[in-house]
Amino acid sequence: MMLTGIRQMEMKTVADPVIVNDTDVLIRMERIGVCGSDVHYYTAGRIGSQVVKYPFPVGHEGAGTVIKTGTAVTRVQSGDRIAIEPAMPCGECDQCLTGRPHTCRNLRFLGCPGQADGSLAEYIVMPENCCYPIPDHVSFDQAALSEPLSIGVYALKLYGKPLTGEKIGILGCGPIGMSVLLPAIAEGIEYAYVTDRIDQRLRIASDSGAFWTGNPDNEDIVAAISKKEPLLLDAVFECCGQQEAMDQAVQLLKPGGKIVIVGIPEFDRWSFPADIIRRKELCLQNVRRQNECYKPAVEMISTGRINVDRLVTHRFSFDRTKEAFDLVAEYKDGVMKAMIEF
Ligand SMILES: [Zn+2]
Ligand SMILES: [Zn+2]
Repeated sequence: MMLTGIRQMEMKTVADPVIVNDTDVLIRMERIGVCGSDVHYYTAGRIGSQVVKYPFPVGHEGAGTVIKTGTAVTRVQSGDRIAIEPAMPCGECDQCLTGRPHTCRNLRFLGCPGQADGSLAEYIVMPENCCYPIPDHVSFDQAALSEPLSIGVYALKLYGKPLTGEKIGILGCGPIGMSVLLPAIAEGIEYAYVTDRIDQRLRIASDSGAFWTGNPDNEDIVAAISKKEPLLLDAVFECCGQQEAMDQAVQLLKPGGKIVIVGIPEFDRWSFPADIIRRKELCLQNVRRQNECYKPAVEMISTGRINVDRLVTHRFSFDRTKEAFDLVAEYKDGVMKAMIEF
């Protein structure tokens, strides 16, 4: 399923992918979640400096079944149901060698222009290191949700403090905001203040244990949260890529607080009030996808510590992928996560 222009997508027949390296695995795709980043490529043709060359298949939040394995593969065997980690680092550069494979200089990431074709295809080939077998009781939906969940788990890890007793804001409560909220609650957060413009999303957040939810279209978020928390928040997770949310984050944080930037903005520059961020000595933490958090995310799901089922709000067959992208692009019908089923 290829992007062929701005808001254009076509199904094309291509050659079956083949196993090249001994450590490769041939996978039949079963499920793919539509990610905000896929939709950025669909609607804008680029994210920052990463520009799509058409035709190009996106998609990276996948789960599938192993069909065939290279001769050296030991992690999985034919017939295994797996969650697929989309990042393929080189293992040899300075970043890989210092424990930062997610910023690998030669990274190949599924559905990232110039790196690797996406997984919106019936079959793909991946290195075995990207394949995580899932137990029978874990659904393909849940397995596909490991990818966004891993980003939330990583964002919390980068926040770096024990969560019990902390007061946090999560601004933007799409799948990524929820992927911060669910593990935060699993790790003991009681006071999570969550915002979004879509009321259905706020309902999912409050059903999942958010302490307070608010819609910036209906109320002044900064005034409402400051009233409840006069000493303000320890951390704010920006999960929507909006300047307005960043401005709220700066207001909502207590001195010494931390802004964790998880959202992907469509604009090129954030702006900050130099005076306030200096006086409050705010810390800015950027999050680049995730590092070493994919396996923990799969485990949180399979052990039942986290229930991600509420996130799936819509389903489409593979041939209706474009409808799923349009739905997500327009934020229609209270969409949280749209799943493509093969
Ligand atoms: Zn994603
Ligand atoms: Zn590398």
